[in-house]
Amino acid sequence: MRKINDRQILAIVVAFLTVACDSADDQKDGGEISVQHLLLGGYVIDGSGGAPYAADLGINDGRIAFIGNATTANVRSDDEIDVNGLWITPGFIDAHSHAELDKDYGRDALPYLYQGITTVVLGADGEGSSNVAERMELWRTNGIGTNGILYVGHGNVRSEVMGAADRAPTGDEMAAMQALVRKGMDEGAFGLSTGLFYVPGTYASTEEVITLAKTAAEYAGAIYDTHDRDLGAVYKGVGYDASVKEGIRITEESGLRGIFSHYNLQGAHNYGRADIGAKYINDARARGVDIWAAQHPYTATQSNLRSYTVPDWAAAGGQDAMIERFDDPELSADIADATNAMLQIRGGADKIMFVDPQPNLNGKTLAEVSRERELAPALAVQQILRENNKVVMNLELYDDDNTRLLAEEAWMMTCTDGRTPRPDQPITHPRTYGSFAKKMRMLVFDSGTLSAEFVIRSYSGLAADFFRMPDRGYLREGYFADLVVLDPEKYRDLATYESPREFSVGAVHVVVNGTFAIRNENATGALSGQPLTRP
Ligand SMILES: [Zn+2]
Repeated sequence: MRKINDRQILAIVVAFLTVACDSADDQKDGGEISVQHLLLGGYVIDGSGGAPYAADLGINDGRIAFIGNATTANVRSDDEIDVNGLWITPGFIDAHSHAELDKDYGRDALPYLYQGITTVVLGADGEGSSNVAERMELWRTNGIGTNGILYVGHGNVRSEVMGAADRAPTGDEMAAMQALVRKGMDEGAFGLSTGLFYVPGTYASTEEVITLAKTAAEYAGAIYDTHDRDLGAVYKGVGYDASVKEGIRITEESGLRGIFSHYNLQGAHNYGRADIGAKYINDARARGVDIWAAQHPYTATQSNLRSYTVPDWAAAGGQDAMIERFDDPELSADIADATNAMLQIRGGADKIMFVDPQPNLNGKTLAEVSRERELAPALAVQQILRENNKVVMNLELYDDDNTRLLAEEAWMMTCTDGRTPRPDQPITHPRTYGSFAKKMRMLVFDSGTLSAEFVIRSYSGLAADFFRMPDRGYLREGYFADLVVLDPEKYRDLATYESPREFSVGAVHVVVNGTFAIRNENATGALSGQPLTRP
């Protein structure tokens, strides 16, 4: 892993400025430095968490060419933009995302850009394909709105080798999975992700994951991103505490650098326990485990109906095997019992809301659908799953106070965990559109719990440190010009559970690799994102 130190950064900056000044001298007389874009009179929050300061910022050839007083430094531009009273911050890094950069409707990444996000981290929850190079080549060909980072996913690799089998891999199967992990890492993946809550990840033992994590750890600096086995709301699950310990153990024994996705505690029985969640990570860090986390600020989760309402054993072998079990009256009754218990843990059928493209379900709760179909909720679930699995939100599973407390930790990054909705999907989780603006509103504007520079750091510099991006995440001369100009008076999330597809407002300008993706609060249509490979 190439980790550059401050002296090397300084050397890069000096070298860059020398180039910038040389090329400028060719164009202008009198030592005037010319840049493509010049932001004048901003309030710079640079991603370090340090005190903000007033400065002008110049952009040239995709990089931050200048930060300082443009007048005294004699920096000029044909495109000078007054940003007086506005914040200039690094572009935000969505540390755990499901943005659909691969799709026609998702490539522009607008829900993310309007929050100020300029980089999304994908392939999370075990879903990333090992075909990393192929996917990135398509991104380059088609263009993408934000930068993209990929993980290779344990769930994807496992299903490629073993389908949805509920058993340990054979030696040959393990070797085949390891080969796929190496392929993804060779092609630039940042690490291995798991979704131990999901099929098929849930069928894997801790030891299986450690073996594959050690394979990823053959690559210096590689990351382990985990969706925990049980955040607290899993029927007959291992429980929140054991689940966090498992994530720490995998990180520690593999030697990877770990990040807990959307780190929080699910279920009313876990409200008020955030200090324990924080302590697990702080204790592990104190003994040298390189473990971090990311969060979003919503109380709802979004996933698939099957995972929330049907026990894993009933899903083993895939859809056809599951329907065979539904057809067996005894098994169907057993599954219905489990479904009732699972619904109780999740707050009841009126706390499960469909956010699926299917119009006759969309926006309705499971309780409503069950009444319409004149079936008990547990049997309505089986009927719906026969048609196919549906996307649902589980409302009110997280506690705001837990979220607030965890936000104070120095290792807590920010994520949307958002999935870009299809055009025909009016209802979705608002986190796709609002996570970063909402966290700022909750913690800085409304409550004053945290400083703007601390929260901005959790959006930018902190994540850049974790992902070891040598030249992003901070406002520094020579760094890539991924940046946001925010109006603190206007920056707000507008997406709600009822009306989720509302862009956030107040990101006045958003620049990705030196190109304006949003200018004067309007998308420009630029697709200036780049695939980023492991440094
Ligand atoms: Zn996720």
